Amino acid sequence: MQFLKGVGPALAEKFSAKGLETVEDLLFYPPFRYEDRSRFLPMREFRDGQSGAVLAMVASTRTRPWRKGAGVLFEAELQDDQGGRLVARWYNAKYLASEVVPGLRLALFGKAEYDFQAARVFLAHPEFEVLPEEGDPEAALQMGRIVPVYEAIGKVTTKQIRRLLQRAMQAAGELEEALPTDLVRRFRLPKMAKAIEEVHEPPVDIDIDALNNRRSPAHWRLIFEEFFWLEFGLLRKQREVKRADGIAFQLTEPIREKIKQMLPFKPTAAQKRALKEIALDMAAPHPMNRLLQGDVGSGKTLVAAEAAVIAIENGFQVAMLAPTELLATQHYLSLQKFFKRLGYPVALIVGSQTAREKAQIKKLVAEGLVKLVVGTHALLEKDVEFDRLGLAIIDEQHRFGVLQRLFLRQKGLRPDVLVMTATPIPRTLALTIYGDLDVSVIDEMPPGRKPILTKHFGAGASKTVWELVRSELNQGRQAYIIYPLVDDSEHSPDLKSAQKMFELHQEKHFPEFRVGLMHGQLPASEKEAVMEKFKAHELDVLVSTTVVEVGLDVPNAAVMVIENAEKFGLSQLHQLRGRVGRGAHASYCLLVSAKLNEVSEQRIRAMVESSDGFRLSEADLEIRGPGEFFGTKQSGLPQLRFAHILKDREILEMARGEAKSFIEGQAGTPQMAQAEKYLEERWQRRYGLVQVG
Ligand code: ADP
Ligand code: MG
Repeated sequence: MQFLKGVGPALAEKFSAKGLETVEDLLFYPPFRYEDRSRFLPMREFRDGQSGAVLAMVASTRTRPWRKGAGVLFEAELQDDQGGRLVARWYNAKYLASEVVPGLRLALFGKAEYDFQAARVFLAHPEFEVLPEEGDPEAALQMGRIVPVYEAIGKVTTKQIRRLLQRAMQAAGELEEALPTDLVRRFRLPKMAKAIEEVHEPPVDIDIDALNNRRSPAHWRLIFEEFFWLEFGLLRKQREVKRADGIAFQLTEPIREKIKQMLPFKPTAAQKRALKEIALDMAAPHPMNRLLQGDVGSGKTLVAAEAAVIAIENGFQVAMLAPTELLATQHYLSLQKFFKRLGYPVALIVGSQTAREKAQIKKLVAEGLVKLVVGTHALLEKDVEFDRLGLAIIDEQHRFGVLQRLFLRQKGLRPDVLVMTATPIPRTLALTIYGDLDVSVIDEMPPGRKPILTKHFGAGASKTVWELVRSELNQGRQAYIIYPLVDDSEHSPDLKSAQKMFELHQEKHFPEFRVGLMHGQLPASEKEAVMEKFKAHELDVLVSTTVVEVGLDVPNAAVMVIENAEKFGLSQLHQLRGRVGRGAHASYCLLVSAKLNEVSEQRIRAMVESSDGFRLSEADLEIRGPGEFFGTKQSGLPQLRFAHILKDREILEMARGEAKSFIEGQAGTPQMAQAEKYLEERWQRRYGLVQVG
């Protein structure tokens, strides 16, 4: 990137942080909007609600206080060359005073709102650019045509990006056409070079709506292209794994008997189906790479335990990785219970154990005496060695990077991998992100579950909420009450804390009941002790932070109260709600929140309306967008540029189909070799396909 004129080392670093390493990467930096600067809207045509672009001269500016305590307002009086006048207003933007000065020419884009006091419309917080003087060579680039608008990169403005892109396109020269020719012909795709040019320097006569909707032929091609190489890479990886040597576990009649012996209850049809798929996969002489999806409480642990029996009876060891100590401990306890009848030695490795304890367990694991070991990240430490690791089970995929998957795998001889997730991932996304995994779904709840009634309460209704909790406690049920903070914080005076509320609940609301406190800052041994007490019904109420979010299983708990519910994400709320409704009792989830903004209101409405994890995760994805939904880059979400996982689902499915038939139809041809080379050179880095073995 640095050899591009205007890009020094400091800038290159900024670009690199956005994943833009090469000139070619820059060509794939998409505009988020297009502005028709060949036709500006006359100012006098602006009515309330009208949005559009105007070309303006700044007549005057002023800074004045806005509502009391609400900062200042910066206003610019604008005029156009048809005598129109319009005020633009930016809130809390004193800094603009030095930038927007009288006499400047601006291109602005924004929406008009009506100001009742002044009885006229104004532009509210418009985006703007200072335009070059007429006759300036820059003018041709920034004016008089359809102009792409880019998200700024650090301090590099859209205007500068436009300039850089112009240079980048010259520097890149004719772009290689890499999609299979047959595809380009069949879909009548514009050539790569043409598509890139059209996207960054669209001709004036182009359909601007199609551009803005990302549905111009150029956009379509670039979106398709991204998905095609992504799916091509994933499918190829999947094939590779399927061909590699792995363990072929036997599934004999005595082993089936063992599984039956272990089962404490009749598996659901969905559990049976999932196990069947897993067992078949384990029996194949190649490594298994399978995702087990199932809503909270659908009984994934049981299926995992069954898979573990197969591995252990074949003479192998099993590792189970959990995201938190609490969860690892829970798994350890339930697996111990499952395996008691079978006599398998089970162990736990977590960070809080003493070095001596750990060393002892590690020794047993290395000698093969422990058949199943559950653990947190501590399990991934270098000195944890297995005698014969055959199956790795990873709980809560979304919290683990792909690298860790690899790490665990290297501890044994290509063990089979089963990834469990309680955050159901919409199918299209599962294809994109875990396209290299096979998927089993548990889409049925164990019998006898009563639906959970979810209600929303404003802050004023807390009395009603505590009465509801009390009435359940009186019937012998237990309750969770969740807070966003461990302790009160002066930084967030609006948020309640577990520590403070614990005291209040014990003293004021539920004095005759046994109230416990749980949060992440307690020592591990204490967390465990509190959990055990709650499980044993030696506590009636558990006041907690989200540490109880995943995996805890206390069937007698029938009420989940979440205070400051607006502070939690949708999948988090759903996970928390999944802590109740695990027994035969009717259960409640009570969401308490004072203020709701648009997003938190959407989330709470989704919670009240649905308890279907798949629907909720789709909703969550839509509310938050894929980037945030999956957290960081490390989550394995590919860096897509033009393509959008949600909006472009159809193109994704199409690209996957095409990638599949290409792989099947062109195996061994020069076309295939060329495509593979292209994939390796151009796309692997961006898709993070390199790290995974
Ligand atoms: P998940 O991990 O999918 O959230 P769990 O494995 O913790 O769910 O199971 C939730 C609860 O349902 C546990 O108490 C478990 O013992 C119980 N359970 C699982 N499968 C069945 C079944 N087939 N019949 C009855 N109860 C079951
Ligand atoms: Mg679980």
